[in-house]
Amino acid sequence: KLAFRAKGLVVTYDSSRGPVKAIDGLDATVADGEFVSILGPSGCGKSTLLKIVSGLLKPSAGTVELGGASITGPRRDIGIVFQQPTLLPWQTVLQNILLPIRTLGLNRTEGRARADALLRLVGLEKFANNYPHELSGGMQQRIGIARGMIHDPGLLLMDEPFAALDAMTREHMMAELQRIWMAAGKSVIFITHSIPEAVFLSDRVLVLSQRPAHLVKDMTIALPRP
Ligand code: ADP
Ligand code: ADP
Repeated sequence: KLAFRAKGLVVTYDSSRGPVKAIDGLDATVADGEFVSILGPSGCGKSTLLKIVSGLLKPSAGTVELGGASITGPRRDIGIVFQQPTLLPWQTVLQNILLPIRTLGLNRTEGRARADALLRLVGLEKFANNYPHELSGGMQQRIGIARGMIHDPGLLLMDEPFAALDAMTREHMMAELQRIWMAAGKSVIFITHSIPEAVFLSDRVLVLSQRPAHLVKDMTIALPRP
């Protein structure tokens, strides 16, 4: 588990048309094991915030901390799930889930054991040796979630993971994700355009303003958990 904290975060891009301020003075926290959704208009700076948390982008001003330490570069202890899972079509479900183990040079035996557990967690244990195109969109997104957790990150970043799914699959995946999150006990930052998704899944919902993003609402959600 890993806590996140941003204080006075400012991010400015240099573009050919001059500087673009994407985030302006954002204060936000995510506690250990908390599920926090980030809601905001398109183009307000949500993906930029994800890049900051994952260490791919440096703040122009302010501080960002993970687990109490300043973020100084790309980190191994976070996992990322994208809107499109971008699975390798020539690799099996199991090989796709194991990909970060290879790219990060982690222990294969441990990775294999974790992959088996994650395949069960996301309900795909019967499909380990299938290829991505043989599975539905929702199943492919579950592979993406398992892949994001294979290296046992303390924090899972999810960037509109259900946006490409049809309405019924999305409903199903929300329930699935809640079950997975409760079993795995990880901190989650979940970016979404969907108020129902945010309210259903989260402990807390942070609402960002139009670009440049700052915090306009920090709402604690108190829905009963199943
Ligand atoms: P999203 O809704 O996911 O943010 P965008 O179309 O806004 O999608 O941006 C996609 C990616 O393109 C961004 O993550 C960013 O890296 C890049 N991008 C967006 N706007 C600009 C821009 N004005 N100049 C350069 N790159 C940009
Ligand atoms: P969101 O994810 O909320 O849709 P982004 O974080 O992708 O928003 O982008 C926030 C703003 O910053 C947008 O106006 C976008 O055009 C701009 N932007 C994003 N990436 C770049 C970039 N590499 N260069 C210049 N502007 C960018």
